[in-house]
Amino acid sequence: MSHNLLFQKLLGKFFSEKVITRIAPSPTGMFHIGTARSALFNFLFARHHGGEFIVRIEDTDKERSKKEYEKDILDGLNWLELSFDALFRQSERTDVYAEYIARLVKNGRAYVSKEKSEKEGREVEVVRLKNSGTDISFRDIIRGDISFNTKELGDFVIARSIKEPLYHLAVVIDDHEMNVTHVIRGDDHISNTPRQILIQRALGMEEPHYAHIPLILAPNRSKLSKRKGSTSITEYREGGCLPEAMLNYLAFLGWNPGTDKEMYTMKELIKDFSLEQVQKSGAVFDSRKLDWFNREHLKKLPKAEVFRRVAASLSRETRRLPQYSDARLKKAVDTIIERVSTFKELGELSEKGEFDYFFAPPHMETDIQWKKDSIETAALVVSAVIGLLENVQEQTFTKETVKNAIWRYAEEKGRGTVLWPMRVALSGKEKSPDPFTLAEIFGKNETLARLKEAQQQLL
Ligand code: GLU
Repeated sequence: MSHNLLFQKLLGKFFSEKVITRIAPSPTGMFHIGTARSALFNFLFARHHGGEFIVRIEDTDKERSKKEYEKDILDGLNWLELSFDALFRQSERTDVYAEYIARLVKNGRAYVSKEKSEKEGREVEVVRLKNSGTDISFRDIIRGDISFNTKELGDFVIARSIKEPLYHLAVVIDDHEMNVTHVIRGDDHISNTPRQILIQRALGMEEPHYAHIPLILAPNRSKLSKRKGSTSITEYREGGCLPEAMLNYLAFLGWNPGTDKEMYTMKELIKDFSLEQVQKSGAVFDSRKLDWFNREHLKKLPKAEVFRRVAASLSRETRRLPQYSDARLKKAVDTIIERVSTFKELGELSEKGEFDYFFAPPHMETDIQWKKDSIETAALVVSAVIGLLENVQEQTFTKETVKNAIWRYAEEKGRGTVLWPMRVALSGKEKSPDPFTLAEIFGKNETLARLKEAQQQLL
């Protein structure tokens, strides 16, 4: 069967049943990037098909599970706006599992086995599945046909006691009870699937569809770990990452629409997402790409919101400078956010005085800032620029008119020779936006005042 036909067959199945997906995080650590990405894919797939998305907290490991981690996971989902239709905790479902264990034992599909526990050093009664050792095959939506020989698994343990299921059994029971139609999870779970299918068969349950999504790798293609950068969603959130940017970035960790389009809103992701476009090979985590998404989404925020958040992020010292005003900030805001990936970074730079020249005449203490040509040339250039700009009308003092006024002179003299001292006179910095942008932000009076101040200093 061709890949396409096969897919259509699967699609046919999708339409005949209501899609229900889930994520099943274990609350044994902070909300991990990988869990968030699984949550997103499950969410997008469910929403795309008008289905439901469930969160199931797998907190049966009492020693390692912590409420604070559960809270971190739920807060993170909320921050990303991955709304869910139901929330379950395995710790609240022990009675359900006990019933199934009893049924398996009664039907002879599993048995209680008295064994010495290595961990506890005493005799325990575990429950083992009777495994006939047949070959198990399943069709993974992303990986294609997968087969396992299960002989070597033997009669594996499915419950610690007749009351306490182990991971595989609990997953199978829950997915069945919650009517999960599609199990979309990291491909480190592929090897768990045959065990889970054996348990489903012993319980006479229908098999869900499986889609194993590629692991997230560090830039050197090794396993992503904390040492190679943060793996915690909360850390990114606290670092000033925008949820829109994180979502967009996570979507592209293993999926792409097959076009050049990279900027996506949640609505567009729901519309375009498909498991068919998920890649098989590992997805490399690149924090520079995340920064890029952040900058791009930052620019897309409503203007009023950007203004409000930039104003709130600037340091108190910056906001107390003599030329600080809403009007000046409005003109400077686009230029200021060009410099940063997050509002938090903006705040940090502001603390260092990085944006002060937008709101106060610059200090020009050192000579190095004029180093491009000799001081004499700089003095000459600044005087000439003053003369040229005096002819530009105050009302139409824009990037374009300023550029037009000096361009011929700049071409004659050499662009660097003219633009460098002009820019330094306006910003006092070796690195800053181009002098035309700055002149427009400052307006005619302030631009001329700064140029004249520089002229004095250069004399
Ligand atoms: N609790 C498992 C985990 O944290 C997920 C199991 C599953 O998705 O089937 O990796």
